[in-house]
Amino acid sequence: MTRTQRRTLPIIYTPLHKPHVPRIELSHSLVVDHPEVPERVEVMASALQRAGHAESFVEPREFPFSSAAAVHDASLLTFLERTTARLAESAGDTLLETPYTISPDTPLAANTLAQAWLASCVVLTGAEMLRGGEPRVYALERPPGHHAGRYKYGGYCYINHAAVAAHALQNHGRVAVLDIDFHHGNGTQEIFYETDEVLYVSLHGHPAWAYPRFSGWPEETGTGAGENYTLNLPLPMFTENAAFLEAFSQALEKIAWYAPAYLILSCGFDTRAGDPVGAFSLTDECYQAIGEQLAALSVPILAVQEGGYDLEGLGKAVVALVDGLV
Ligand SMILES: [Zn+2]
Repeated sequence: MTRTQRRTLPIIYTPLHKPHVPRIELSHSLVVDHPEVPERVEVMASALQRAGHAESFVEPREFPFSSAAAVHDASLLTFLERTTARLAESAGDTLLETPYTISPDTPLAANTLAQAWLASCVVLTGAEMLRGGEPRVYALERPPGHHAGRYKYGGYCYINHAAVAAHALQNHGRVAVLDIDFHHGNGTQEIFYETDEVLYVSLHGHPAWAYPRFSGWPEETGTGAGENYTLNLPLPMFTENAAFLEAFSQALEKIAWYAPAYLILSCGFDTRAGDPVGAFSLTDECYQAIGEQLAALSVPILAVQEGGYDLEGLGKAVVALVDGLV
C-alpha cells in the first residue's frame, strides 16, 4: 500500500491508564488541581476513532521493569519502588516533595510506578512494531516521560518512555529523538548527553522563562562522544506557526545529517494556542504540516505522547498531526 492510500496507523492504547490520577500539584507554592488527567488520553483516543484513524487500538504487551534500569539510575528506581510499596500500606496517601523530584508537581501514590511502567510498555510495544516493519506508530499513553532523568523524576513524569524505547532501538541502528513538546525534555537530554548513538533535538519554550528552567539552552550540545549530538532550539513566548516551522526545518536538517534508522517523536500538544500549561500559539495547521514533513523523511517513526492539557483542543491537534503523518 502506498503512503497516499494509507489512512490509518497502529495506535497503541489501553484504558488501564485511567487509575493514574494525580490530584494536586504545588505551583508557585500553591496547591492546585492537577492538569495531567485521564481525560487527556481519552479525548485523543475518541477523536482519532471519529476521524477514522483508529479502527481498533493495539493493546500493549508486557515488558520487564528491569528495562528501565538501562536509562534510570538504580537509586531512583529503588526509591520509587520502596516508596510506592510503603504508600500501598497507608491507603490514600500521596507524596509531593521528595529528594528525588525536580519539582513538587508529580505526586507519588501506591499505584504510580506500576502506571508509569504500563505507559512505558505502550511505548515499547510501539518500538517493537517499528522493528517489525511498521513505518509509523503512535503510542498514546500517559503519564508523560520526557522530564524524567537518570537520577530524578518530575514535571508529571516518572519513567522516561521515549528514552526506554530509544535504548531498545539503538542496538538495531541510530536513533533520533525529536521533542516538540512545549517544555524542554531535560530527562531525555540528560540520559543521552554523552553518546552519539542517540541524537536529541528539541524545540521548546526558552528556559529563561519556561519550565524546567535549568536546561534547554542552545549552548547545550552534548559532551564527550555526545558532543554535537544534542540540538536545542528554544523559542520565544507566544511563538506562532511560521516561526515554529522555521525552527522545525532546522531540526529536520539536523536529523537528515544524522540519518537515523529510527525516529522517536516526543509529541506534546501543550504548544497549542490556549493550552493552560504551555505559552505558544500554534494551530492545528501547524501539527498537520509537522506530520507531513515527518512522513516525507522516509524514516520509521514512533510518536510518543508527552504533554498537552487543553481538553478542548487535544483531539483536534492529534488528528491534525496524524492526518499529516499517515
Ligand atoms: Zn510539556
